Amino acid sequence: MNGVMSGCEEKILVLLRLRPLSEKEISANESADWECINDTTILYRNTLREGSTFPSAYTFDRVFRGDCDTKQVYEEGAKEIALSVVSGINSSIFAYGQTSSGKTYTMVGITEFAVSDIFDYIKRHEERAFALKFSAIEIYNEVVRDLLSADNTPLRLRDDPERGPVLEKLTEETLQDWDHFQNLLSFCEDQRQVGETYLNERSSRSHQIIRLTMESSAREFLGKGNSTTLSASVNFVDLAGSERASQVSSAGVRLKEGCHINRSLLTLSTVIRKLSKGRQGHVNYRDSKLTRILQPCLGGNARTAIICTLSPARSHVEQTRNTLLFACCAK
Ligand code: ADP
Ligand code: MG
Repeated sequence: MNGVMSGCEEKILVLLRLRPLSEKEISANESADWECINDTTILYRNTLREGSTFPSAYTFDRVFRGDCDTKQVYEEGAKEIALSVVSGINSSIFAYGQTSSGKTYTMVGITEFAVSDIFDYIKRHEERAFALKFSAIEIYNEVVRDLLSADNTPLRLRDDPERGPVLEKLTEETLQDWDHFQNLLSFCEDQRQVGETYLNERSSRSHQIIRLTMESSAREFLGKGNSTTLSASVNFVDLAGSERASQVSSAGVRLKEGCHINRSLLTLSTVIRKLSKGRQGHVNYRDSKLTRILQPCLGGNARTAIICTLSPARSHVEQTRNTLLFACCAK
């Protein structure tokens, strides 16, 4: 595999994806102020006009322009990390960015390409017996819900001395085929929390994690007592919008939601920052549900990619800069 990860397995892979202006933005006469000038650099084109002291060029492992499709983002950015699951290595792939920047668009596509590749891999390795398990959760106000269960009961998170963090009663479905996977995806989509915001958009305020767990053992040893099972998980994490609480709303429930989102995102960025600095010292996974749940798939020898999604529109420049700051801390 020739991903951008080759040769630098230790660090967190930070990718940027700039989406095109939407039709709505075009009809509102928005201009696109950000441009990818090559495969690694994104440039703010409007510094003169604004007289800003903010840097105007940012360099990352890889940046994807508005006309790159998700297949390309997957192939060049996420595939190698997602498929490390077949070698028994845990991984997490995040989409981070403000609401409407393209997180869900990116994550759904990447999850689909990964599942398709994993099915392919299973077909090509008849010497092993596989089970590919699918689970999906939502974290909303630090409450965890099972997206494969129609009832709303929060899931309890407990620390198991052997297995690490365990979500009690979490539904896990063994994937049968592509149709089964698609049915589960749309079931999850129906269960997701969305609400109206003062940004006048349906905005997602929850974190969603789709987890694939792959178990496999060599057929010749099956049932012989000495068979060893290889097991690993890959997490596809569609984070809540990174915009600040104050910009979403200023009161009541929405503010509370905002604070929780920020706590989870803040903890995540602290954890990511520590990991990117070489995994030294204490990492405070326990400060949020998101990082507690993902801990086995974040530190140690786990692989991590963060795809930061950006809108090019002038009206989103503040949020775009916040996302770039996060991305710079992670690399
Ligand atoms: P988010 O999950 O960050 O709130 P979405 O993924 O829902 O944002 O994207 C917002 C809108 O923009 C959707 O209509 C989506 O189809 C569109 N979109 C996002 N990224 C792209 C892209 N790279 N190319 C084309 N359309 C995109
Ligand atoms: Mg979304």
